[in-house]
Amino acid sequence: MVKQRAETKVGHAARHARADQIAQCRDDIRRGLLAHRYQLLSQVARVEDELDWLASNVEPEVLEEGQEQALANVLERLDEHDRREIAAINSALERMDRGEYGICRICRVEISRARLDAVPTADLCRACAESREAL
Ligand SMILES: [Zn+2]
Repeated sequence: MVKQRAETKVGHAARHARADQIAQCRDDIRRGLLAHRYQLLSQVARVEDELDWLASNVEPEVLEEGQEQALANVLERLDEHDRREIAAINSALERMDRGEYGICRICRVEISRARLDAVPTADLCRACAESREAL
């Protein structure tokens, strides 16, 4: 996925028009997810240190030791709902890195763009989500 993105930058756009379009959509969604995560965390971040890693938009797994502690402190202050939201965002970002974003976790069908627009962290297609809710 990362490799594909780098490729589009050096100009194979014409050959990979369709792939580019998808990558572009994912980049937009990714930016949206990061912005949402930033917004959730920044409402409880109090000191500059805690916002440092947010500003750099890095993934939690590449945090330095001090930053990691700062993040833990921030997460601690979030309520249950926001914490779950952030976990969902992180998981969506991870699926994006693995090239699995937008694919239903259960039936492996492609999740519709409309659904992803409405629920960017969705990891189930509508049918699977509904049948799960019905359980
Ligand atoms: Zn499904």
